[in-house]
Amino acid sequence: MDIIDLRSDTVTQPTPEMREVMARAEVGDDVYGEDPTVNRLQELAAGMTGQEAGLFVASGTMGNLAAVLAHCGRGDEVIVGNKAHTFLYEAGGVSALGGVHSSQLPNQPDGSLRLEDLAAAIRPDDAHMPITRLICLENTHNRCGGTCQTVEYTLRVAAFTHARGLAVHLDGARLFNAAVALGVAAKDLAGAVDSVTFCLSKGLCAPVGSLLCGSRAFIHKAHRVRKLLGGGMRQAGVLAAAGIVALETMVDRLADDHLRARQLADGLRQVAGLDLAPGSPATNMVFLRLADGIPLSARDVATRLKESSILVGVTGERQFRLVTHYWVSDEGVDRAVEAFRSVLN
Ligand SMILES: *Cc1c(COP(=O)(O)O)cnc(C)c1O
Repeated sequence: MDIIDLRSDTVTQPTPEMREVMARAEVGDDVYGEDPTVNRLQELAAGMTGQEAGLFVASGTMGNLAAVLAHCGRGDEVIVGNKAHTFLYEAGGVSALGGVHSSQLPNQPDGSLRLEDLAAAIRPDDAHMPITRLICLENTHNRCGGTCQTVEYTLRVAAFTHARGLAVHLDGARLFNAAVALGVAAKDLAGAVDSVTFCLSKGLCAPVGSLLCGSRAFIHKAHRVRKLLGGGMRQAGVLAAAGIVALETMVDRLADDHLRARQLADGLRQVAGLDLAPGSPATNMVFLRLADGIPLSARDVATRLKESSILVGVTGERQFRLVTHYWVSDEGVDRAVEAFRSVLN
């Protein structure tokens, strides 16, 4: 039986069209800026995010790290959410490799940071304290349920931050999911921040890579940091070619993933023994818990689901995350619901 892999949208494989353009890609030495396909991808990404320039990087983690290191010096402070991917899941890179201090503010249930909290966290000019340089936002917000941060919110934080002489970085790993779900252009969500990363290798299906976009001067700095991190990739046009297909053909269809996430949530709500957070999933992620009284752990349930070729993410003792993507069909959604039903009943 075909495997339905709902663990993450990072499991997406390149489409046949991607494999074809990868085989034919025109390439050069990108460390010299001579790979025409990488250059084309970077220009396309900059245009789509409302920024001047782009930089192709190996991963979202590398893009976020390069951004923080380009904005901050050693001992400077970055403000992040306490559920931010940058804080939780990037191996502490900003501290380990950048000597950058982080201050964590509570993410609200919708993934936002409150302006009052930001105002209180920004350091005064005092020799006892690190210097606040940067605020990081995340859209969609992964740990807060794949929630979208609106254009108004982003503009408000950017204006607030810029008025205090600080910069804003947006971790937009799933920026295009947010844009499609909100019915706005990505550049409306990312044009007002100082830098933005997004992933090609998640819902957009490319095999490898992310983009970091910002002003020309910022990307010039980030280019040096990428080299420092070992991320100069030479004939990377082979990978960038798939990224161009991703941006040109895979963005609008993210709406299908969001629809399937809603169908999946609606189906699972009917299964006794599961509790779903109220409301439709905001984008392509469904979070659910085992109801009280179910004598199994999430890990036990995941092991049994695997016997029916359904793979799910376990995000807590009794909690799951299910992510829809290009390789999950309507039939896959139905099979996943049925598999949960048969394990729990
Ligand atoms: C996946 C993800 C990243 C990191 O991307 P990788 O390519 O896996 O390094 C960063 N931020 C968020 C919100 C993510 O979901």
